[in-house]
Amino acid sequence: MTLIPHFINGAEAGTAERTGPVYNPATGEAHRQVAFASVGEVEQAIDAAKAAGPAWRATSLIKRADVFFRLRQILADRTPELAAIVTSEHGKVLSDAAGEVSRGIENVEFAAGLVHLLKGERAEQVSRGVDVHSVKQPVGVVACITPFNFPVMVPLWMIASAIACGNTVVLKPSEKDPSAAVWIAKAFQEAGLPDGVLNVVNGDKVAVDTLLDSPVVKAISFVGSTPIARSIYERASANGKRVQALGGAKNHMVVMPDADIDGAAAAAVSAAYGSAGERCMAVSVLVAVGDVAEPLIAAITEKVANLRIGDGTDASSEMGPLITREHRDRVESYVTGAEAEGATVLIDGTRQINGKRIAAGQPIEGDGFFTGISLIDGVKPGMKLYEDEIFGPVLSVVRVDSYTEAVELINAHEFGNGVAVFTRDGGTARQFEFDIEVGMVGVNVPIPVPVGAFSFGGWKASLFGDSHIYGPESVHFYTRSKVVTTRWPDHTPAQVDLGFPSNH
Ligand code: NAD
Repeated sequence: MTLIPHFINGAEAGTAERTGPVYNPATGEAHRQVAFASVGEVEQAIDAAKAAGPAWRATSLIKRADVFFRLRQILADRTPELAAIVTSEHGKVLSDAAGEVSRGIENVEFAAGLVHLLKGERAEQVSRGVDVHSVKQPVGVVACITPFNFPVMVPLWMIASAIACGNTVVLKPSEKDPSAAVWIAKAFQEAGLPDGVLNVVNGDKVAVDTLLDSPVVKAISFVGSTPIARSIYERASANGKRVQALGGAKNHMVVMPDADIDGAAAAAVSAAYGSAGERCMAVSVLVAVGDVAEPLIAAITEKVANLRIGDGTDASSEMGPLITREHRDRVESYVTGAEAEGATVLIDGTRQINGKRIAAGQPIEGDGFFTGISLIDGVKPGMKLYEDEIFGPVLSVVRVDSYTEAVELINAHEFGNGVAVFTRDGGTARQFEFDIEVGMVGVNVPIPVPVGAFSFGGWKASLFGDSHIYGPESVHFYTRSKVVTTRWPDHTPAQVDLGFPSNH
């Protein structure tokens, strides 16, 4: 069986001493093994990154930018190859995997503009004959720890900017779908990145903890679930590192009475069930305001009737399986437990393989980690269905009477990653933008993931730390500002003055 290695100092590395299975979620087969790094292997990667730092930092900005231009071309030319790797380990359909590559390319394009991004500031004559300027310098070795759900895009959110800013990186991708990260490291090498600037270590908590505790690692970028994000933030910041730790989500989509119902229904179906709901920006709660619930549910029911669920490599599939059998069972437990919580299951997607329902008592194991789509009405705060991040194709409908009730509901939720409002009224949309306590807002846009020139980040339990990821905030996160105050001899007589330097 193929062993997915680490990639340290420009070469594959790693033994089969400790490994984990990598599944094809569409068949349920453990078709690859991934090496789990030991403390010693992670330290080798950190050492390689440290050793590569001075030369990379000294490389001219134009030469650094060249790497990103070449990488962009490799990613664009070989998108189908990379998408197939993603589908074989994650399960999402090929078109969705290709979409993820294209969103990752945005971060590479942003990084290619690094000469502009790294410009500092200058003020002339702050005092007589004295100028001040600032420069942005790399923080050093950066560790990036990523989740399973975007094995290409999320690593690129981090490593593109980190490397562009002159840092060197150790990337620890999800052990569930690790091949894409190794592919990306090789693509960077092909694009001209010197060995050691980007290293990949595969593995579990052992690898992560080694990165969090290493005094050589100066910054941690993490994306994953909220409990792990919180613990990463606490441990790494206690160790004196800068940390950005992005967590889970429960994204609401508000549909106002004046909205285009058919458009809102199409948006809800796409955003709730795309990638089987395994997106941190997936819509999982539909907030129906006033009397829109009935027509909205009717339109959604009609649109999902013919959704094709199946193997992601089949071009006719619109939704693939979930990542693991355990996750599938957990997702389905919310649906089977919904009635007991007082909700009404309108569409029950449990026990479905390739869109066909398996009768109770019949085995469903061994055929991939599929579930169908579920739609649940009458969901209320306090229910597990409402409070928890389910991370599957389960859409809950919460009915409220007014705009104010919708806003209060959302602002009271633990998470604050993404939100959307569907309305034809500009005043309502503007007020929503003002009122809502969520980091990313869509107006008639269900998945408002910012384009690469902006930064991505949620509020509340969706992000620990004060820096959003990629875009301009990543330049701030991956650099240290240095401010230089300069005076050149102007041939006036020198004076001793023990007072605090005043510029007046
Ligand atoms: P996860 O938290 O289980 O894993 C994320 C990373 O942490 C992986 O690399 C994993 O190996 C590592 N990890 C897991 N347990 C650990 C532990 N105890 N100690 C140290 N490291 C550990 O998340 P996941 O299941 O891979 O991804 C799904 C989650 O990620 C969802 O909650 C989703 O909302 C979230 N997510 C958030 C964003 C965002 O931008 N906010 C984006 C994508 C995914």
